[in-house]
Amino acid sequence: MNIHEYQGKEILRKYGVSVPNGKVAFSPEEAVKVAKELGSNVIVVKAQIHAGGRGKAGGVKIAKNLEEVRTYAKELLGKILVTHQTGPEGKEVKRLYIEEGSDIKKEYYLSFVLDRATSRVTLMGSEEGGMDIEEVAEHSPEKIFKEVIDPVSGLLPFQARRMAFSMNIPAKLVNKAAKLMLGLYEAFVTKDASILEINPLVVTGSEEVVALDAKFNFDGNGLYRHKDIVELRDYDEEDPKEIEASKYDLSYISLDGNIGCMVNGAGLAMATMDTISYYGGKPANFLDVGGGATAEKVTEAFKIILSDPNVKGIFVNIFGGIMKCDVIAEGVITAAKEVGLKVPLVVRLEGTNVGLGKELLNASGLNIVAADSMADGAEKIVELVG
Ligand code: ADP
Ligand code: MG
Repeated sequence: MNIHEYQGKEILRKYGVSVPNGKVAFSPEEAVKVAKELGSNVIVVKAQIHAGGRGKAGGVKIAKNLEEVRTYAKELLGKILVTHQTGPEGKEVKRLYIEEGSDIKKEYYLSFVLDRATSRVTLMGSEEGGMDIEEVAEHSPEKIFKEVIDPVSGLLPFQARRMAFSMNIPAKLVNKAAKLMLGLYEAFVTKDASILEINPLVVTGSEEVVALDAKFNFDGNGLYRHKDIVELRDYDEEDPKEIEASKYDLSYISLDGNIGCMVNGAGLAMATMDTISYYGGKPANFLDVGGGATAEKVTEAFKIILSDPNVKGIFVNIFGGIMKCDVIAEGVITAAKEVGLKVPLVVRLEGTNVGLGKELLNASGLNIVAADSMADGAEKIVELVG
């Protein structure tokens, strides 16, 4: 789960991490009111969307007086911001973060991520922070330093200091930077985060070390023990299809292809997507209906797939183990009759009650293409979609 920058900074304050003063605003009037309260000479108006790259896309504005705050707030609210992380469709700005301007001397990069290769939380840092970190990663990866963190001891102060030195933080600020890193780590672990990225981390003219941006991702599996984080969820930022799917406890992720997939089991879902790609097609979604899905759940899953206008064909690929093929067939038939099926449908069923499942589908009067194997099904749907 993602949250907004202003929410992330709110959390970081509680862990003693220094961030500039600021507050969220939903209208130009509110933006001006917050700016007045802040009473700073320079005010930064920042679009709040769940995507980075706002600076380059014109989503971060520096205002020198209250009138400019109002102008920028008006300009940004309601604007569709297209950044390198939003995709071409962009994201509408509905909230702003109004923040004190920082007197930036230098921008650094800092992040905590879960490294799946070592199964360790890893601290990464670079003196080449700011808006071009992707370039640094690609062209001069030697400028990015890592500290692998032992889960038992946690981030140790010497590791934090070593990172600060590697990043060329001025010697007299190394302890400040290390303290900030320890605070970040504490927040990361306590809140079950999967990413915490501070880009830029800055050293200011008054020799402070400050987190100027904050990107938090949380592990969905840990959310049950963080009610405070769940409350920060912003449904406006999420795909409506994914929200609908989560109501029925379906693992659904929308993708940019045109072949809708309904599969049971995450492994089979991945394999199905790979097979579709192998035959030259592009999946429109990842969808795992789970092992013990009911006909109702399958119906909802099928409806979600059909509600996607990009879907030009559907591939149902089910292995009935715990799940029974006839239950899947019932779900598919109910949904197709309710919503109307206007695109080709290829079904491959195997396993428990497969005979019964096929009979139901044959008797349904739906225009279904049967497949004998995963490869056969993938090839058929790719061909039908064209
Ligand atoms: P994004 O990563 O989405 O581009 P950032 O929050 O990192 O957004 O802001 C982009 C750039 O804007 C920063 O690298 C920094 O140079 C500038 N900036 C952001 N916040 C402030 C601030 N409070 N004071 C001064 N400059 C800022
Ligand atoms: Mg940033």
